[in-house]
Amino acid sequence: MQTLTLEQETNPWEAQAARFDFAAKKLNLDQGIWKVLRYPARELIVHIPVGMDDGSIEVFTGYRVQHSVARGPAKGGIRYSPDVSLDEVRALASWMTWKCAVVNIPFGGAKGGVICDPKKMSQGELERMTRRYTAELIEFLGPEKDVPAPDMGTDEQTMAWIMDTYSMHMRQTVTAVVTGKPVNIGGSRGRKEATGRGVSVVCDEAMKHLGMSIDGCRVIIQGFGNVGSNSAKLLAQKGYTVTGIAEYDGALYNADGIDIHALIQHRQKTGTITGFTEAEAVDKHELLTYNCEILIPAATENVITSKNADRIRCKILCEGANGPTTTVADDILADKRVFIIPDILANAGGVTTSYFEWVQDRMGYFWTEDEVNQRLDNIMKESFCDVVNYARNHNVNNRIAAYMLAIDRVAYTTKQRGIYA
Ligand code: GLU
Repeated sequence: MQTLTLEQETNPWEAQAARFDFAAKKLNLDQGIWKVLRYPARELIVHIPVGMDDGSIEVFTGYRVQHSVARGPAKGGIRYSPDVSLDEVRALASWMTWKCAVVNIPFGGAKGGVICDPKKMSQGELERMTRRYTAELIEFLGPEKDVPAPDMGTDEQTMAWIMDTYSMHMRQTVTAVVTGKPVNIGGSRGRKEATGRGVSVVCDEAMKHLGMSIDGCRVIIQGFGNVGSNSAKLLAQKGYTVTGIAEYDGALYNADGIDIHALIQHRQKTGTITGFTEAEAVDKHELLTYNCEILIPAATENVITSKNADRIRCKILCEGANGPTTTVADDILADKRVFIIPDILANAGGVTTSYFEWVQDRMGYFWTEDEVNQRLDNIMKESFCDVVNYARNHNVNNRIAAYMLAIDRVAYTTKQRGIYA
């Protein structure tokens, strides 16, 4: 096992770089291209003054990192969280490049973040912060340059403000500058559920691949935000038994399956999953180690680490979140023969439907929800098949296969375009 301090183990940039280096070595990647793809192309830091409700002025620090524009405009979400750091945004931007390449859509990778606690800010404060952040980045964004989307702490409303601010500066409505917008202002049907839907499709594919039956298949999900709740809803609809849900403020377990519809209603009413009487309240950390067929971390990075990996008891680990498993944990899970559906494949449904949204905005012609979902399902199935075949043919695990497939595609384009030096 590698000897890393917990701080080194949980640095998302180091985690990304370690997987990248490993895959690049396996690919025998040209040294020059290696250096080009290892580091982000552009990193922007902005300090955003915001007028707060009490009349004071607060200054927030924000980032936008564009890792690659080799295969198309930079693409990736914007995160509002107190834990945002440049290293985290860098890692997330690189993951977007690999993710878009795994599902073979014509985008590069980017990510943004603002250090703030959106739960403690009013709608007015969030709107002013979002508009000023957008204004600071105005010349770097655009449908052909860099297209943000929602991530943790941001939503459809945030995207509507970004679209409006950008449009005011451009003196015309530019819907294609962001994705994940409300449907009536250029959003795509199916976008909100898309990441969860993609998660459910790759779970189906993994079950088929491993010859397992959905009947009696127990699923535990960590996170009940957009990704976790939609994954839970769709998997329950497909006949899986969702036995556990963990959130930041508590966790629930019911061996017979949690009624997801009722839980969503409970959360809408009370603002939390806690206090839901049709399931047992359990420890949120321990829940991850309960027996289940599928475990879905769908919240944040570094959930499965050297501290708990040896106690994980699932057969399939489907990474709805970005970077939930550390490299040290990867080795432990490999010994336990856990089948991993890596983040850059498992949660790519969101950006895939973002791609559909961008396409629809640029055509000004919108598809039905069935059309969107059908196209998404096809891409997720094909990509799952590509990764699993790649792993078999090159005798590597699914995560390294996904990286190799992605790096190979981006390297090929980079060489084809040539380096402007
Ligand atoms: N934030 C999401 C992700 O990590 C979506 C990105 C997008 O749609 O551009 O994949």
